[in-house]
Amino acid sequence: MLKVDQLSYTYRDGTKALNQISFSIPDHSKVAILGPNGSGKSTLFLHFNGIYLPQEGSVEVLGIPVNKKTEIDLKTRVGLVFQDPDDQVFSSTLWEDVAFGPENMGYSQEEIDRRVEKALKSVDMWDYRHKAPYHLSYGQKKRAAIAGILAMDCEIIMLDEPVAYLDPQGQDQLFSLLDELYQQGMSILIATHDVNLACEWADYIILMKDGQILGQGGTELLVQEN
Ligand code: ADP
Ligand code: ADP
Repeated sequence: MLKVDQLSYTYRDGTKALNQISFSIPDHSKVAILGPNGSGKSTLFLHFNGIYLPQEGSVEVLGIPVNKKTEIDLKTRVGLVFQDPDDQVFSSTLWEDVAFGPENMGYSQEEIDRRVEKALKSVDMWDYRHKAPYHLSYGQKKRAAIAGILAMDCEIIMLDEPVAYLDPQGQDQLFSLLDELYQQGMSILIATHDVNLACEWADYIILMKDGQILGQGGTELLVQEN
């Protein structure tokens, strides 16, 4: 599903955010990219949906090499849930927010309606479709962001610091939704600094620090690291 080979990325100000990293992840996985703030997790995620293109090395997602030609396609196949849902969900109604992706993909109104309804129902937010995201809780906003991704029919969903901003109830709801999506065949990646969360949730963990990979494997990896 994901193949990263000798990937490096340096920001314009000279910050080396990724330094020759390589790993691969099989199809249908629940993966945690674990590392402290600044270790390069977000920079890595932005390569998986074609927002960033590899400067050095290569990235392959769902068998597709990430490059100038494929970036548009990848944006509709790999969805990213931002850490702060206010950066992602801000249209005047929830319906419009979720419709944004399928509208841009050029679907007919009938197909857009079908996708928005299905997506909002699967995150249990259909009753809120006429509401402004502004009035929703952070947990609801995160689920709305996920609905926007489902409406594009993405195969992979990535969440940057998924539990940030959420109360315990919001966290439970989010993870039961993620489990459901995983059962339905989606692959799920999270980026987190929370060791417990990674251990409890993931099948596979990639441990990062300072733009490098310190280790990768099942949760037994962290037992060794601790
Ligand atoms: P994480 O997601 O693990 O917190 P990031 O990928 O956000 O890590 O950041 C990796 C490194 O790149 C950090 O040193 C961070 O300060 C730097 N960085 C992130 N975004 C930018 C940017 N737009 N310009 C310059 N440096 C950046
Ligand atoms: P209600 O149940 O209140 O009659 P629906 O939510 O079923 O309304 O919407 C009917 C149709 O109106 C939808 O299929 C969709 O095409 C359109 N629609 C609904 N909400 C919006 C919105 N916020 N922006 C644009 N079109 C919308």
